[in-house]
Amino acid sequence: MVQTTSLFWYNAFMTLPKAFIGKYQAILGNSGDDFLTSLQQEAVPAFRLNPLKKVQQPFPNAIPHTPWGYYGKVSGKSIEHVTGLVYSQEPATQMVGQVAAPTKGMKVLDLAAAPGGKTTHLLSYLDNTGLLVSNEISKKRSKVLVENVERFGARNVVVTNESPQRLAEFFPAYFDLIVLDAPCSGEGMFRKDADAIQYWHQDYPAQCAGLQREILKEAMIMLAPGGRLVYSTCTWAPEENEAVISWLLEHYPDLSLLPIEKINGMVEGIDMPEAARMYPHRFKGEGQFIAHLQDRRPALKKSLKLKSPKSNLTQEQKRLWQEFAKKHLQVDLSGLLQTFGDQLYCLPEGLPDLAKLKLARNGLHLGTFKKKRFEPSFALGLALTSDQVNYSLTLSEEDFRAYVSGNTVAIDGEHSNGWYQVLAGGNGLGFAKLVNGTLKNYFPKGLRFSS
Ligand code: SAM
Repeated sequence: MVQTTSLFWYNAFMTLPKAFIGKYQAILGNSGDDFLTSLQQEAVPAFRLNPLKKVQQPFPNAIPHTPWGYYGKVSGKSIEHVTGLVYSQEPATQMVGQVAAPTKGMKVLDLAAAPGGKTTHLLSYLDNTGLLVSNEISKKRSKVLVENVERFGARNVVVTNESPQRLAEFFPAYFDLIVLDAPCSGEGMFRKDADAIQYWHQDYPAQCAGLQREILKEAMIMLAPGGRLVYSTCTWAPEENEAVISWLLEHYPDLSLLPIEKINGMVEGIDMPEAARMYPHRFKGEGQFIAHLQDRRPALKKSLKLKSPKSNLTQEQKRLWQEFAKKHLQVDLSGLLQTFGDQLYCLPEGLPDLAKLKLARNGLHLGTFKKKRFEPSFALGLALTSDQVNYSLTLSEEDFRAYVSGNTVAIDGEHSNGWYQVLAGGNGLGFAKLVNGTLKNYFPKGLRFSS
């Protein structure tokens, strides 16, 4: 009987590997057919609103039981995307950040972070407090992560480009919360990415599980006593999900599972009711597994102190920055000022000295010192709300299009020459210099596009 059904589905969906079809029919029993049918349907696009930015108009189609989730597609060329008001992320992966939900002031690690879906979600909860170390092992992917983090506009985040092993040497028992969104066989992305189907083979899940256990060992070195760990994959393979978590519980007896509230059609893990699975025939989104673990050891009375960095600004640099901040800013950017060459950064408060790590983003880039003057950065203009800045100019939709394609913009009315935060749809798009009524173009060359 099972064989006849498998053959039917194999013929119906030639794109899915035969072994995959048979495996999930066996695992899901009666609902196997519904599951396989749902894999032939379109992926569900969605996004999150960024609570660090200003929302001018309400958005329709909220995802139930989420603070910032909405169904729908947002264009990468829209004002909402370019100013960081929205982050495109399908609904099932949104559940990972929601389970992690760090509280303000926490020290958080996102161990496999690019392109940044979980990182930006975690930053929404932290609300510019505490510290997020967002790590990505691949250099190329870490660059995309930095771009997405900068657009989101948070100040309390550093991006590292390290292996979990190197990071663990540096941060023993350090983090209150670690999110490991592990590299996996990617079955849950089959609808979004046809390549994921090509990579899949019967032994792939077991191979991935080996890597996942190795990364978890490093995560456990970095978890502070009493901390929480959120483990997720975008695959349904039990080898990479419940089996990995069973291994973890066996080897780290201080850990125990916390129950995940099953919202919007999430279901229990296989023989692991605390964990959560998302299948597209039950949950409006792609595939995901999440386990939430608590370390039961008592928290350390005093948190581990790593060596702190020192400010290294010259008197002249300090004066130039203070002059700019006094004239332009309505906010005290708490943090430590440091220069790298002639670039000025604001490091999150309490950040240890990371000079020995490969950094892709060392806190918030404030700007550049140029012969006796200071030029504010694009990142600073994205990270500040309009009420944190004294001088701003708002672009119309048409001017926005001209600006992002690299053109100057003529500004009507009486405005003195100097630096302005550029606003579109109420949110920052960097800083730019106004010279005699013309707004010069400071939109980064690498990000320019025409529409
Ligand atoms: N969390 C990301 C997000 O929400 O946008 C998605 C992360 S993706 C599922 C897994 C990441 O693990 C990839 O960026 C990949 O480069 C990284 N990775 C691959 N091998 C790794 C390893 N050995 N250690 C740590 N990360 C690894």
